[in-house]
Amino acid sequence: MSTTDTKPTTDFDCDLLVIGAGSGGVRAGRFAAQRGARVIVVEGGALGGTCVNVGCIPKKLYSYAAHYAEAFEQSHGFGWEAATPHFNWSVLKARRAAEIARLNGIYEGVLRGAGATLVRGWGSLIDAHTVAVRSVDADTEAPPTLYTARHILLATGGGPQRVHHAGAEHALSSDDMFDLDPFPRRLVVVGGGYIACEFASIFQGLGAQVTLVHRGPRLLRGFDTEVVDFITAEMRKKGVVIHLNTKVSDVRRDVEGQALRLTRAGGPGESDQDTTIQADAVLHATGRVPRTAGLGLEAVGISLDAKGTVPVDGNYQTVVPSVHAIGDLVGHMALTPVALAEAMMLVDRLFGDGTRPPIDYTLIPTAVFTHPNIGTVGLTEEAARERGPVRIYRSEFKALQHTLSGSTERTLMKIVVDDASDRVLGMHMVGADAGEVIQGFAVALQAGVTKAHLDRTIGIHPTAAEEFVTMREVSRR
Ligand code: FAD
Ligand code: NDP
Repeated sequence: MSTTDTKPTTDFDCDLLVIGAGSGGVRAGRFAAQRGARVIVVEGGALGGTCVNVGCIPKKLYSYAAHYAEAFEQSHGFGWEAATPHFNWSVLKARRAAEIARLNGIYEGVLRGAGATLVRGWGSLIDAHTVAVRSVDADTEAPPTLYTARHILLATGGGPQRVHHAGAEHALSSDDMFDLDPFPRRLVVVGGGYIACEFASIFQGLGAQVTLVHRGPRLLRGFDTEVVDFITAEMRKKGVVIHLNTKVSDVRRDVEGQALRLTRAGGPGESDQDTTIQADAVLHATGRVPRTAGLGLEAVGISLDAKGTVPVDGNYQTVVPSVHAIGDLVGHMALTPVALAEAMMLVDRLFGDGTRPPIDYTLIPTAVFTHPNIGTVGLTEEAARERGPVRIYRSEFKALQHTLSGSTERTLMKIVVDDASDRVLGMHMVGADAGEVIQGFAVALQAGVTKAHLDRTIGIHPTAAEEFVTMREVSRR
């Protein structure tokens, strides 16, 4: 422990210095300031971090935009007659940018309104209680400003992981997709995780011809296998070409310099001519890595773990007692609500009464905003079976809307129940607004819901969600 830990609070410039004003950093800075702590928040980029600028928010706005294509099409089945609408990518980009700028301002206002001081620059650790900030405006030769803090919070998030193959420099990351110019008529997405699946759905919906190339046998590692197979089929029905067990070996510009030629290391059962894809843009959606470069971790003796994340204990404390870390940087689950919850836990411990219960990482609900959406909470069928006998309740159907819409989209809903205790272990849905549906059931799982509780619950008719409280027949054990 540093000798300065015993200094009175007033000997430091602040009680808490936060590096990074993303989801976790803003929440920690605001909560700490509202509890009377003197807070400095250091941010070198746009306020709000990944989620606000190049993540959840712009992605969801684009997902809404993409859904309109289907909605216009399907409206004919309900009697609407209209000329084929024209999509204007420039308008969407400009309106998104304006909304994000508004949110940047709100985040700044939230921090300042709580009494925190915002310092614009890039922070790095000098010692256990000192951070150097290089101003975003100053030239690189200008000396950094030093700030001392009783506690330092690292909340620097992560960035795209680049993969290496010939011509990889031609590929884009998800950060680049929001302002792409021109709109890619043909898009190749490399990867099979959240971002790959979401961006494939979004750009297909907006009018691109999307090909998704994934190295593994299934998309969305870690999700329920049946859910994954179902969404793969649904995405294919909507026109996304999906190549599994396939690697990209080479990307080159063709002679006109217009299109990218992408070579896949042959998929099973395919001829050679299938292995080249013409594309206007290639997206590498191949994971994200914690942002630790230049953070000065070595100066205070913090080593990274094998995944490149900053190791912390159950209280989000690093090996240096005055230095804490949360969010994507520690990588428990790279989701905004997780970063927010960790921020609130930490602030409660440092500046509150420390009574907030620990985060239950086993019951974090999540949605993948594919078309249709996936919503899930709790254990997959496979994980539950490893723990003991289960009952699986499953329902697959065409949503009422699609009886007239002409869409062939189907919905899957699934409940995983522990046979002995009747406890619901997991709930999974693929269908419209699955995230909205699963959010409510996540509360029920947190409260220990049993299948008998679901059976006693009256449905809301006619909804898709009512299926979760009306499934009576065991589909399999
Ligand atoms: P971030 O939000 O990344 O914030 C880190 C901040 O630190 C950044 O502003 C950065 O500029 C700043 N910073 C970095 N280094 C320094 C430094 N040295 N000095 C000063 N500042 C620094 N999650 C969901 O829950 N739902 C979704 O739908 C969802 N969609 C996503 C879509 C995409 C395309 C991506 C990429 C992510 C998505 N996520 C989603 C994940 C979510 O965005 C992250 O989990 C969340 O933003 C992590 O918050 P954080 O505070 O850890 O880091
Ligand atoms: P994911 O970890 O979800 O997926 C990464 C994908 O890239 C996997 O399919 C992985 O394959 C593949 N991959 C990794 N390395 C390579 C390589 N060298 N060559 C080819 N393929 C490779 O990461 P994402 O980037 O999609 O998203 C990062 C995180 O951000 C997510 O895990 C999630 O926590 C968060 N996020 C959340 C969203 C939401 O809540 N809706 C939306 C978007 C992001 P394999 O499976 O074989 O390892």
